[in-house]
Amino acid sequence: MTDGYDEDAGRVLRGMGTVVPRVIRNSAMCLLCGEEIVSVHPHDFRMCRCGNISVDGGHAYARRVFRTQHWEDTSVYGRGDNSGISVEDGR
Ligand SMILES: [Zn+2]
Repeated sequence: MTDGYDEDAGRVLRGMGTVVPRVIRNSAMCLLCGEEIVSVHPHDFRMCRCGNISVDGGHAYARRVFRTQHWEDTSVYGRGDNSGISVEDGR
């Protein structure tokens, strides 16, 4: 999958001195309405039905906009290397 946004976002974020792991799955679960939202493209802004939590950034970066702390990050991150995708389970 060739996606220019992915590369650009990674460069910008590294230039700012932040190490960003590759986003395998960009998602969050709202604990107020119970809806899980998934952002699949860099400009795919998704909001849960009650408006408490939003995710954005797709596989390029994980952006969160939220009103309360009542949500859970269900994203999957991995190391960005050329030999394949290795998923790290943070739990
Ligand atoms: Zn909600």
